[in-house]
Amino acid sequence: MTYVVITFFVLLFLNLYTSGVSMRLFYSNKEASMLEKARMTANEIANLDVLNTAAIEETIDRIGSLTFTRLVVTDAGGSIIYDSEGSAGYALFPQIVTALESNDVFTWHFDDGVMRSVVATPIFQYDSISGCVYMMEYDTEQGQLMDSLQRNIFTVSLGLEIGLLVFAFVFSGRYSRRLRKIMNSMQIIQEGDYTHKVNLSGKDELRVLGDEFNDLTERLNTSENKRRQFVSDASHELKTPLATIKLLSDSILQNEMDQETTREFVTDIGNEADRLTRMTQKLLSLTKNEGNVAQIEAEIIYMAPTIERVVKMLSGIAETNQITIQTDLSNDSAVLIPEDDLYQIAFNLAENGIKYNQPGGTLQISLHKNQDMAALRVTDTGVGIPPDAVGHVFERFYRVDKARSRASGGSGLGLSIVRSIVERNNGEISLQSTVGKGTVFTVEFPSFDIEEDA
Ligand code: ADP
Repeated sequence: MTYVVITFFVLLFLNLYTSGVSMRLFYSNKEASMLEKARMTANEIANLDVLNTAAIEETIDRIGSLTFTRLVVTDAGGSIIYDSEGSAGYALFPQIVTALESNDVFTWHFDDGVMRSVVATPIFQYDSISGCVYMMEYDTEQGQLMDSLQRNIFTVSLGLEIGLLVFAFVFSGRYSRRLRKIMNSMQIIQEGDYTHKVNLSGKDELRVLGDEFNDLTERLNTSENKRRQFVSDASHELKTPLATIKLLSDSILQNEMDQETTREFVTDIGNEADRLTRMTQKLLSLTKNEGNVAQIEAEIIYMAPTIERVVKMLSGIAETNQITIQTDLSNDSAVLIPEDDLYQIAFNLAENGIKYNQPGGTLQISLHKNQDMAALRVTDTGVGIPPDAVGHVFERFYRVDKARSRASGGSGLGLSIVRSIVERNNGEISLQSTVGKGTVFTVEFPSFDIEEDA
């Protein structure tokens, strides 16, 4: 509608402007030619000694080529000396009055295809006005030309406007139909059907919008599925220790048992509660990693000191599990990472290397570097991961051996936390494992040269 209104005004302006311009063109043409004729006639008459009808008639005949509809010559008082239409008396037309006041006049009137032009000019004899020449022309030919020009412009404009109106209706109808399609799809998705797709034809912006929209819903669908999966996994995982606690406490309440058994049960309850606490802590840390929580500033650090802290921290459990920890931290190089993140990566990997090891086994932590990468490698001589499980160990709550994992306080969250931290810091994690022999986890980060950067 806006387009139609705008073009309507533009066309209206063009119409008025072109007809105005052509009118003015005709006008100035006519004015020049008629004034010339009238002046020439006045000059010829001025040469006469006496102004009388016969002499003037003779002069006009002599000029010959004059074209007019009516020609009137008056004396200085406005009394007609000669009139081509033969009338006599006073001719006090406004143009004559003006001409007798020593002015050239040209008036013009256009009506119904007829152009009526009037010119009047004074006759000067011996420096004073002795009369005037009044000339009038009816011009139908030019008038019709003008008329048809205006009509043509009008018809073309009208045609354009109608065409535009039709086009606008068709186009906007089609456009708003497609927009409605998108809006309907939005409604459907708002109601929860994330699998819905909007199907738009064409190659324009709406199609791009539709494609973007589909991309968006697909991502929404994926994240919604992940969320559902996460909630169901998490509640499932939390349910098991809670059920154990409930079972143990019911047993204590319902059965007469000796103090030692009661103690044992209460200890089990305590262990389950500890496991719940650890699990919720890990869940919290996982959601924190994935949300857009303001990240701690990464810094360029050497890895060795952090690894040493981890080893110190884990030496107690290692001893309990009869695992020897070996380190080779000589090939250290600097990486860009918050120290806490590096600590958590190393801690989780090393802890797993102890938990899933065999008594008497070893855990080796080493640092490596090549041109632009720095690597942390954690190698154990443990149970290993079966090939079909390798692709899943980074998934939340995934555990190869549930019983073993649970027995060692595992929740299936450690490696997914490690992976999300590694990725957040532009690193990569990979693993190689042989069942019964052991597992190697390798984490790589772009290395930095502290001397150069400082
Ligand atoms: P969990 O808390 O159960 O240890 P993780 O996410 O750290 O959870 O590990 C997921 C699973 O991957 C573990 O349950 C275990 O089965 C397997 N796993 C992880 N690290 C090792 C390893 N070093 N050796 C053998 N299996 C491992």
